[in-house]
Amino acid sequence: MEERRLQVTSRLGLHARAAANLVRVASKFQSNLTLQRLDGNGEEADAKSILSILTLAASRGTALRVVASGVDEHEALDAVVGLFSRDFDETEKPGADLPPVTQEFRCKGLGVSDGIVIGRVLRLQEGTRDVYRAVIDEADLERERRRFRAAVRLSRRQLEAIKHRAEKELGRGHAYIFDAHLLFLEDAKLTRDVEDYIVKERANAEWAAKVVGDRLLSIYTQINDEYLRERGSDIEDVIQRLLANLTGEGPKYPNLSEDAVIVSPDLLPSTIAELNLNHVKAIATDAGGWTSHMAIIARGLGLTAVVGLRNFYHRTRTGDRLIVDARRGEVVLHPAQETLSQYQLMEDAYGPTPAPVGPVDCGPLATLDGVQIALRANVELPAEFQAVRDFGACGVGLFRSEFLLSRPGLMSSEQEQYETYKSLAQAAGEYGAVVRLFDVGGEVAPDAKQRERNPALGLRAVRFNLRHKEIMRTQVRAILRAGAAGRLSLVVPMVADVADIRSAKHVIDEELERLAAEQASFSEVRIGAMIEIPSAVLTAERIASEVDFFELGTNDLVQYTLAVDRGNDKVSDWFRTLHPAVLYGISRTLQAAEEASIPVIVCGEMASTPAYAVLLVGLGANDLSMIPAMIPRVRAVLSQISAAEAREVALKCLGLATADDVEELVRNEFRARWPELFPPNTLPKALE
Ligand code: PEP
Ligand code: MG
Repeated sequence: MEERRLQVTSRLGLHARAAANLVRVASKFQSNLTLQRLDGNGEEADAKSILSILTLAASRGTALRVVASGVDEHEALDAVVGLFSRDFDETEKPGADLPPVTQEFRCKGLGVSDGIVIGRVLRLQEGTRDVYRAVIDEADLERERRRFRAAVRLSRRQLEAIKHRAEKELGRGHAYIFDAHLLFLEDAKLTRDVEDYIVKERANAEWAAKVVGDRLLSIYTQINDEYLRERGSDIEDVIQRLLANLTGEGPKYPNLSEDAVIVSPDLLPSTIAELNLNHVKAIATDAGGWTSHMAIIARGLGLTAVVGLRNFYHRTRTGDRLIVDARRGEVVLHPAQETLSQYQLMEDAYGPTPAPVGPVDCGPLATLDGVQIALRANVELPAEFQAVRDFGACGVGLFRSEFLLSRPGLMSSEQEQYETYKSLAQAAGEYGAVVRLFDVGGEVAPDAKQRERNPALGLRAVRFNLRHKEIMRTQVRAILRAGAAGRLSLVVPMVADVADIRSAKHVIDEELERLAAEQASFSEVRIGAMIEIPSAVLTAERIASEVDFFELGTNDLVQYTLAVDRGNDKVSDWFRTLHPAVLYGISRTLQAAEEASIPVIVCGEMASTPAYAVLLVGLGANDLSMIPAMIPRVRAVLSQISAAEAREVALKCLGLATADDVEELVRNEFRARWPELFPPNTLPKALE
């Protein structure tokens, strides 16, 4: 055995990248190599294990003893000491590193709902279960550790089986990856740390596994070595397997924490629908835009949300403190005490918009020149039904029914759907509700391989329904049956032309006949078409002659007219609601409907922005559907303008060439005509 003493002299200390270099050098020798801190408790680390080295937390100036024992101990020591003296052969400038994770870090995104929330990070990736923290009684800690060990054993058996199959079907070359997974699973660093965490923090096994897993992951994501960093996804995989095996058998905990902030690269709407809203206070995602479905749902549920944060997810760990400020479109990770105190003062004052107390105005409003306008509610989840009355909506203009399909491959039964539509009809009352057939597509496929390259242009909405007729038939039957219990209509999403409508109506007619033959209780319902893609706009007259009403989906209309992915933050600058081509499409659709004497409900996000709502009225709309919480604001604005004046502005907009031109004109006209209604900070961002 031989040993040497040395000191860490590099500016950033023995951090991840340096540790990776040390592992690489140490692994060339047969001898055992350990590092011991000469201060503190004399912590020791295996110089061939990066996880172990990092736990030393050896910053600049730390004195260490390196001990080598084995056949090549002398050479090994020389190599290690040489590496320390060369500051670990680091070539990159320190500035290229991510900031230390515990320093206050702000990240700008897009606030898509109201509110300020101070909470704790809960990292979530698609396919991951939501895991909450529970405080475990002293007496039950041993049970938690046993549950964890059982999950490790089960995961090992599963991985061995997968490895065996991979070897048989793909050959040894491809099965090696599962060796790595098995190694992670057996690494005492993971298993011991989880068990220690359970005992020390009196935590449930799921939470402990998630916290420890996230710590390991964050170590890997900081490594500036592609190979090692890539191993992070293997750890993630293993942790997810453990969590799945744990949550499958776990007991229910009554005392879960209530300040979870979901941090995720992206979230499927179905994932949000599945979250336990008693525990989740806010959402922060790397992807997304104002009209992405996840943003729409977050607004509908009154969840504070900031999207489009790009690379934020990888900077976080479960359990970190995080402020989500949707007003400024910003998140603050590890807030300093001063920042925290400032936000604590604001948190209560800026929660999501609560329902008004006492009676609210309801029924259609009238503009100053007497044009009647109905404001309806867009809803998505049963949790929102109450809001229809609370905010004075004229019924439900759009029920996005997709949550009933929320687990990929799993659909609610006809009876479950029937119950939901029935309570929707009751909540909507005399004005009724419009149920949209499932608007889903490739993005909900459970298996990445089945996902389409371009889901927005793929087997989505009506196409999905026509291809999966059993799913469509079940939904249609449930709607027709619930139609007997209240006022319901049905709208077909994303029709491209009259052929889509005819095919959909054919299925509906068949189900009507079948219900009649079964002597079931049902009712015929009005059938509408969503006009949201350019081919439907251009053939609107023909579609109008075959349906009872139109719904104008401005979110998709902008997306498809301008060829801008509504959920992609990289192109959000091109998502211009006030583009003349979009306004033209809206105007054309409204005219076609008027000529055919059918009503149009405008139900995209555009309707819920007061300035845009004025333009819609100017273009001829008199029926708008929006997030319930926005109804009072839109009502207040529309009842103080004249539709004729709005029309003058809208006509001028239609003659312009670019979105910039329209926005400038709107800014000037609105300020000149309605200065009290539109002070600068109430105009949408694009207009400022
Ligand atoms: C739209 O496209 O404007 C719309 C209302 O539907 P969704 O946002 O659900 O696609
Ligand atoms: Mg749409």
